[in-house]
Amino acid sequence: MDTTLKILHIEDSSADAELVAYQLRQAKLSCTIQVVDTEDEFSRGLQEFAPEVILSDHSLPRFDSLAALDLFRKSGMRIPFILVTGAVSEEFAVKCLKAGADDYILKTNLTRLPTAIRQALKEKQTEIERDEAIKKLNYKIQELDTFMYKASHDLKGPLASMAGLIEMVKEEVRDKKMQEYIGMIEQSNRKLERILYDLIEVTKIAQGRPVIAPIELKKLIEETIHSLKNLEQAKEVIFFTSIQVPAPVASDRNLLATIIQNLIHNAIIYRREGLDAYVSVNAYERDGRILIEVEDNGIGIASEIRSKIFDMFYRGNYSSKGSGLGLYIVKQAVEKLGGTIDVKNNLSQGSRFTVSLPSSYKI
Ligand code: ADP
Repeated sequence: MDTTLKILHIEDSSADAELVAYQLRQAKLSCTIQVVDTEDEFSRGLQEFAPEVILSDHSLPRFDSLAALDLFRKSGMRIPFILVTGAVSEEFAVKCLKAGADDYILKTNLTRLPTAIRQALKEKQTEIERDEAIKKLNYKIQELDTFMYKASHDLKGPLASMAGLIEMVKEEVRDKKMQEYIGMIEQSNRKLERILYDLIEVTKIAQGRPVIAPIELKKLIEETIHSLKNLEQAKEVIFFTSIQVPAPVASDRNLLATIIQNLIHNAIIYRREGLDAYVSVNAYERDGRILIEVEDNGIGIASEIRSKIFDMFYRGNYSSKGSGLGLYIVKQAVEKLGGTIDVKNNLSQGSRFTVSLPSSYKI
């Protein structure tokens, strides 16, 4: 059963207004209708009558449905707006739908009106409930991010003091077996530190907003390679770079550094033993986007795990000593910058990660 519905009807013909009221009565749609035919009356009606549905004829002598739609949109009300009008072109109908109308009914087919109103009311309700659910979900995500951030920060202190204590015990203990155990504890502690560091990075990316500034991409890539060359695993690796991007690029320095550092780090870690390992970093501009490729001749990525490697905590390799968060972090950072990331195996069966970023980033 419908409760009494408040309908604001924009119409200058009293005969047509009566016809509409008649159709609604026939369909047992209980309603109170306020008819208006000027912009002022419509504005006042929106505020004072507080309608639940708007019906609008298209062209009145001093007012039309597009102007009404404009006022309606500005009011922020979330109720159905249905065009009830004489013959209009399809283009016009589409224009009205695009401008925010929910439906349109021809005056020659008024019997459809009650169903259209009920349908539009239902859809609007579903839309409002969905938006409400999304809002709640976003709030929960925000809460979870804050929790993760706080929890990870609170764990930093105890972990650091544990590292200090391990150092002290190492000095004191002479027993070989005990030294071995302490070495194991130290390794586990380092792993925990790594996970914690990555978790903090995840929450930082989730909560932060990109700070866009000019960046010398060539310099950033070279600095990253320079620092990663210190890794034990990078001793035998040869690095190539080809940076053909007009400097500087507009991006967020921290996010970009995170992306490049993680991709190059992985390319080093997952090198193939017994092969002259190389890592090649190329950057260029194409179709208004900046492309950064990180390629290696390492162990490659089997096609069956390729869709999972960007998941949180996913490790595709038993020998991985990482947190399984590196590529997850990369993907979050890329998306924060409005970009995409893709991976393929290259000709040498190693992998090639391609990051595509907008070249002019707008906040
Ligand atoms: P991890 O901490 O395990 O390195 P990542 O998120 O960085 O986590 O990577 C996820 C998985 O993707 C890795 O465990 C590995 O199996 C695979 N992977 C990432 N980069 C490469 C690469 N350059 N070559 C081969 N495998 C890779």
